[in-house]
Amino acid sequence: MLEATASLPLIASPDTPTLSGWGRVPVPGTEIVPNDLEMATRGATLTRGLGRSYGDSSLPANPRDKIVTSRLANRIRSFDASTGIIRAEAGLSLVDLIRLMIPRGFFSPVTPGTKFVTLGGMVASDVHGKNHHREGCFGNHVTSLRVRLADDSIVECSREVEPDLFWGTIGGMGLLGHVLEVEFQLLQISSPWIWMESVRVRDIDEFLSELGRTAPIWPMTMGWIDCLSQGSSMGRGIMMAGRWATKEEAPTTPPRSAPQVTFPFTLPNWVLNPFTASAFNAAYFWKQMARKSETYTSPEPFFYPLDAILEWNRAYGSRGFTQYQCVLPRAAGAEAVREFMFLLTKLGGASPLCVIKDCGPEGKGVLSFPLEGTSIAIDMAVSPDIQRIVDRLNEFVIAAGGRVYLTKDRFTRREHFVAMEPRLPRFMALRDKYDPKRKLRSAQSVRLFGDTQ
Ligand SMILES: Cc1cc2nc3c(=O)[nH]c(=O)nc-3n(C[C@H](O)[C@H](O)[C@H](O)COP(=O)(O)OP(=O)(O)OC[C@H]3O[C@@H](n4cnc5c(N)ncnc54)[C@H](O)[C@@H]3O)c2cc1C
Repeated sequence: MLEATASLPLIASPDTPTLSGWGRVPVPGTEIVPNDLEMATRGATLTRGLGRSYGDSSLPANPRDKIVTSRLANRIRSFDASTGIIRAEAGLSLVDLIRLMIPRGFFSPVTPGTKFVTLGGMVASDVHGKNHHREGCFGNHVTSLRVRLADDSIVECSREVEPDLFWGTIGGMGLLGHVLEVEFQLLQISSPWIWMESVRVRDIDEFLSELGRTAPIWPMTMGWIDCLSQGSSMGRGIMMAGRWATKEEAPTTPPRSAPQVTFPFTLPNWVLNPFTASAFNAAYFWKQMARKSETYTSPEPFFYPLDAILEWNRAYGSRGFTQYQCVLPRAAGAEAVREFMFLLTKLGGASPLCVIKDCGPEGKGVLSFPLEGTSIAIDMAVSPDIQRIVDRLNEFVIAAGGRVYLTKDRFTRREHFVAMEPRLPRFMALRDKYDPKRKLRSAQSVRLFGDTQ
């Protein structure tokens, strides 16, 4: 019998300092923000980056835990323009990296849908992007990591040296060690512009066939689904595919940075409701007037459309929100994706933000999220129903042989996590080896990995 709510960390009272992830559900705790990450991580429980993980993976298990934030440790240690190999401190943000590297003809080999993340966070979550079907996760491109272990020793690891530490740290959510420096291979780009195709898609079946059609032709693909539309148009949306434009296709001038505005205040909880969300979705769907269009665009709106509005997470109100992201294996077939979308709508979990992606083969990171199949991500406001919705979706995902993405998760129960993660014993064996006393932990590791609070 399942409890009403999964075991959650302590809830903050109004006068205690708190920390939260991108979903704005706070827990009691404080962070230190040093510029000497190596010194500060001595005796630390967890390192976090820019807090863009939605759930509780970057949050303290206990308010007394020493939480270090890496963002001021952002020096570039070396860069070789002839090979594209770069080495930097873990707090270097993607926004700074691409500002420096695009004019030099390079870009991150893999990028998530926001540029406000650190290299350490990209390693710990083994982030994936629109090119997963071609390039795999970020960890695929990492050549070496400098890591502080729980016993305070510092180890350099790679595919050749301490490979089990290397592959456990990639996607290991900060639970094997504090990443101090990251060395990786940048992608050489033919121009600073993207050539993209958008196609309006009428339902979920057409979406899946579009993903199949574009994958062999386009290095980057993803789709936005109007998951509030039902009946014959269930799963309609806009499919986007892109590649770096050639010198000939691209404008001669570099792209200008998009103007940035900040979401001015936290919206009242009632503003985002099924009616306003449906209206938003319909408007967004019909924004794509032609069924198919091709054009060049700047990398910013292509990779990071949500970054145009800073602090957009306030739109969900003071209740906060979560993102449910799962991957359904290809072997489960199109039927599983269709049924998942149907279940999501039936449970009332649909919202304006629902993204579908094609994932390539599983990577080597021991707990890395993607596996060959279809990934679906949906933002959901925290409501009294959220635990029930996540439970039902998880039961479906487990039956289909899929899994959820830890960096987005806040509500999965331990028993569901264990059922969906056959690689867990291997990861726990690595924790036994590198951190037998479980000094490194997070609110999420208490909830899912059975750590003590
Ligand atoms: C709008 C938006 C879009 C996103 N799109 C995608 C996407 O397309 N693909 C994708 O894969 N992800 C995506 N994400 C998730 C995001 O990429 C990850 O959560 C990423 O880890 C956040 O980086 P961060 O620096 O903010 O890390 P944090 O959120 O601060 O931490 C995340 C995890 O990394 C660990 N960590 C951070 N730094 C270190 C370190 N130095 N050493 C050890 N552990 C560390 C933390 O302990 C925690 O477990 C998105 C997030 C947002 C908000």
